[in-house]
Amino acid sequence: MAVTATDGFIVRKRSTTITTLLPPLSVVPNATCAGCGCVCDDIELQHDGRSIYVAKNACERGEAWFREQTVERQSSEVLLDAAVEAAAEILHAADLPLVFGLGDSTCEAQREAIALAEQLGGTIDTETSLSHGSMEMAAQLGGKITCTLGEVKNRADFVLYWGANPAETHPRHFERYTLTTTGKYTPSGRADRTLVVVDVRETASTAEADVFLRIRPGQDFEALSILRAVVQGSRFDEAKLAATGLTLDQLRDLSRRMKKARYGIVFVGMGLFQTRGTFMNCAAVTALVIELNSWTRFISMPMRSPGNVSGADAVLSYTTGYPFAVNFSRGYPRYNPGEFSAAGLLARGEVDAALIVGTDAAARLPQAARDHLSRIPTITLDAKPPTFTPRVHITTAAVAAGTVYRMDKVPLTLRPPITSAAPSDETVLRLIRDALAKKSAWYPTAAAVMPAK
Ligand code: SF4
Repeated sequence: MAVTATDGFIVRKRSTTITTLLPPLSVVPNATCAGCGCVCDDIELQHDGRSIYVAKNACERGEAWFREQTVERQSSEVLLDAAVEAAAEILHAADLPLVFGLGDSTCEAQREAIALAEQLGGTIDTETSLSHGSMEMAAQLGGKITCTLGEVKNRADFVLYWGANPAETHPRHFERYTLTTTGKYTPSGRADRTLVVVDVRETASTAEADVFLRIRPGQDFEALSILRAVVQGSRFDEAKLAATGLTLDQLRDLSRRMKKARYGIVFVGMGLFQTRGTFMNCAAVTALVIELNSWTRFISMPMRSPGNVSGADAVLSYTTGYPFAVNFSRGYPRYNPGEFSAAGLLARGEVDAALIVGTDAAARLPQAARDHLSRIPTITLDAKPPTFTPRVHITTAAVAAGTVYRMDKVPLTLRPPITSAAPSDETVLRLIRDALAKKSAWYPTAAAVMPAK
């Protein structure tokens, strides 16, 4: 079906003077947006084959995400071949290469990147180690009870956001899954749900809350530990409670609401990951939720970043057994956040080449890591020009067809309506692997490991 742009968000304006001369726009129903962890798959797009003009149902953030999807400049095949060969040379010559990023790549590209890291005997790490890695580590410590967002929509009558501001970071989260939407056991939508927000400041999300608990910065672990004690009726240090900025009455009220909920969920945001305590804060949340299951059904879930970071955790977990910071230098996967996290490896100067895929490393990594990145040969694969000067840059498609994971680890299909002129991350990574396969293997031969007697 072909239409002209009439309603919905205008992602990109067509020139009004020549609109009548242009062909009508094509419509794509149920397109998927990866502008945030909600991964909305109910977007209706209108495009002309080169640019997207209308994204119906998308929020402003989604609109910006679709705006980036245009037909990129195509580099010639000769230039691509030369860039791939140069990238393979750099990686082959390195003793400990690092593959980092993958937040904007499809799961298919992530699989290629993992295979490449293994082929190189290098280290692979994703943006998870800079954000939600604490939640993964907390789950490894004591287990985690989780669910899909469909379950939240249909069942949750108590929703708590701790250190998160979904109204700005995940704009359709309230509308699609947690607050205003109606579900099988929440037929009255908002009226059937209680919303509690715990944060250090007032935000657009706290304005929607039935209860807003303002906590002092850096006191999350203490507040969560005291809340666990209140839930269980155990003793706690009252001086520590005063330091959190919360009162006993507030925590007793929260505990009462949690226990009487039919189905409760705690969404964990960056406020908890990026403050003192990091993964111990997350461990306190998962422990609280496990304990609350003695009274009622309770779940926890991290509010994941934009793109497909959630997919990177899933693909790394099902291929190597570990969600991020994986090293292959012994020929098999080893996991140790801190030791094998990109930020730490770079800051300590332990890697001698880096392949950055689909992430703005200069903006994401700490200064010490960025300093080392500028000293070693670096290859970038991205649709956008890099914000630092790599040795090799290959422009890849802004969005490629493939699989992305929603924040609840539900895989969804990405079907970009516009065919990019640039190759996908997956294609380029495979070309680099093919070029490497023609060179000598990095690992020592059996004869070198066990010399003949
Ligand atoms: S809420 Fe997130 S996934 Fe949904 S349209 Fe907005 S940016 Fe895209």
